Amino acid sequence: MNHIKNRFLFVKRSIPKNIKILAVSKNQNVSSIEKLYKIGHRDFGENYVQEMVKKYQKLPKDIRWHMIGRIQSNKLKDIVPFIDLIHSVQKFEHIQIINKIALKHNRVVNCLLQIKICNEKNKSGITYQQANNILEDKRYKNMKNVKIIGLMGIASFQKPIQKIRYEFDFLNKIYNDYKNKYKHCSILSMGMSRDYPIAIEYGTTLIRLGTFLFGNRKKNKTI
Ligand SMILES: *Cc1c(COP(=O)(O)O)cnc(C)c1O
Repeated sequence: MNHIKNRFLFVKRSIPKNIKILAVSKNQNVSSIEKLYKIGHRDFGENYVQEMVKKYQKLPKDIRWHMIGRIQSNKLKDIVPFIDLIHSVQKFEHIQIINKIALKHNRVVNCLLQIKICNEKNKSGITYQQANNILEDKRYKNMKNVKIIGLMGIASFQKPIQKIRYEFDFLNKIYNDYKNKYKHCSILSMGMSRDYPIAIEYGTTLIRLGTFLFGNRKKNKTI
């Protein structure tokens, strides 16, 4: 039995075709990634720069790597040359650095703004107003090598379920607002293993699945 493959195919069959699956492979080894690569999956998400770079070097180059973890400005130079999408942008400074490095590498790097949708302390993200400020900043509008193409959010870990619904509904409203304003806004990254069916009800376009596909993450596992 190949659990990773079966779980992936189960999710794929049970969700609408227009929703993308991002396989979150943090703390998982290269052979787990290869199991999904073999059946044609190409989108993988990581939280830590060093881990992503190591995997990027070991694995086929047509994998699309997504950064979903907290961004450290001084490490952007290691991922901007190959990254497909950065989900977790929260500062104007990040945008400036990404643009500068992307220019050197002659590429346009797609990003999402991470919006804080729950009030749990350890969850990061920016407010609607802060996101507006970035999107309306003239300096951003003049940048040619970075593009904000949507939003990302993480819901509460705690029930009740109405709280999670409220948070996803809130993010969906902001997303639709931006979609009407900015024509290249096309990705709403919302929903994880425990709440992705709810995220689908609230209009997600990309779900980020780690433990449901790969099982529990193991600390200090060799990749
Ligand atoms: C780790 C992580 C995920 C995957 O979480 P699971 O609960 O394992 O599906 C999704 N999104 C972000 C931002 C993460 O850090």
